[in-house]
Amino acid sequence: MEQSIAPTATAPLIDPFQRAINYLRVSVTDRCDFRCVYCMSENMTFLPKAQLLTLEELDLMCSTFIGLGVQKLRITGGEPLVRKGIMTFFDAMTRHLDSGALRELTLTTNGSQLEKFAPDLVAAGVRRINVSLDTLDDAKFAQITRWGRLPQVMRGIDAAQKAGLRVKINAVALKGFNEDELFTLTDWCASRDMDLTFIEVMPMGDIGNEDRLDQYWPLRDLRARLAERFTLTDLAERTGGPARYVRLEETGQKIGFITPLTHNFCESCNRVRLTCTGELYMCLGQEDMADLRAPLRAHPGDTAALEEAIRAAIRLKPKGHDFDYSRQVVDGKMSRHMSHTGG
Ligand code: SAM
Ligand code: SF4
Repeated sequence: MEQSIAPTATAPLIDPFQRAINYLRVSVTDRCDFRCVYCMSENMTFLPKAQLLTLEELDLMCSTFIGLGVQKLRITGGEPLVRKGIMTFFDAMTRHLDSGALRELTLTTNGSQLEKFAPDLVAAGVRRINVSLDTLDDAKFAQITRWGRLPQVMRGIDAAQKAGLRVKINAVALKGFNEDELFTLTDWCASRDMDLTFIEVMPMGDIGNEDRLDQYWPLRDLRARLAERFTLTDLAERTGGPARYVRLEETGQKIGFITPLTHNFCESCNRVRLTCTGELYMCLGQEDMADLRAPLRAHPGDTAALEEAIRAAIRLKPKGHDFDYSRQVVDGKMSRHMSHTGG
């Protein structure tokens, strides 16, 4: 499955607003072993297999992006670790870490498969992972994920830390659901030396009405609540994404806030997203995308057409996701699922 693509000596990916694109998020599957109520409906129809990029195609796509200057790869989904054979892909990416072209290979996972895969991920060169976890209560966990079970995820987190992975917890902030766990989650993360980031819930796709959550908890409220107990110091750290960080002076802990719908980070945006079908989304908040699977499949063994398609797509990267907001939101909902674009 190894594809020999030498990093090109050609220009790196710079968009029309002079932003260097060096971060690629890749959804490797739209499938998942959970059905989180804010992400999926209970009865999801998943894509036919033929539409998905094969593991070889994923390798070729990522390697081409790396050749064009991408230095950070985040693998996501759906649940990336339920994709059959996914470790073959991780193993294949190791060569780019070894060559120095890739600085970081990481993933966002629900943690359910970590018990099985943590050592293999470390062997492939993964050093840090994000685990999504909204509650520490067994019953609430089963309710919010529908199909997930907390003890399995806890064993996964244990295994990850034991294998030497640095774990960051991502929790979606949900009013009336995990509001009362703000300090429990914070303390638990501190006790395990894990960073914690809260994500503001986004209205996404058609996730069924039966469990429709109307639990938007603005992170500015959550932050104010944290400040009642801790001294918060803003950190200058920027990731080029929608996350902002503070340090809790009393514990030294770093807490992040991700507000996907605010657009005050667009000027430093360094990322694009590839779906599991090979569509490249230049902006999380916009519908504009480029089909990279077609040029990839049309010219097997020749990445020139793919490279040109990537460059053409980057030339279309919009300035920000407030650009034409009216086009992407239908009835106040994003028209595509996070599991499709890869959150
Ligand atoms: N399955 C993996 C997981 O849960 O970490 C990776 C994919 S998941 C789509 C990535 C992230 O998106 C998770 O942290 C999840 O909580 C978040 N997410 C999903 N739907 C969301 C929504 N409607 N609003 C905000 N975050 C959402
Ligand atoms: Fe699956 Fe992650 Fe979506 Fe939950 S948030 S349903 S774990 S893809």
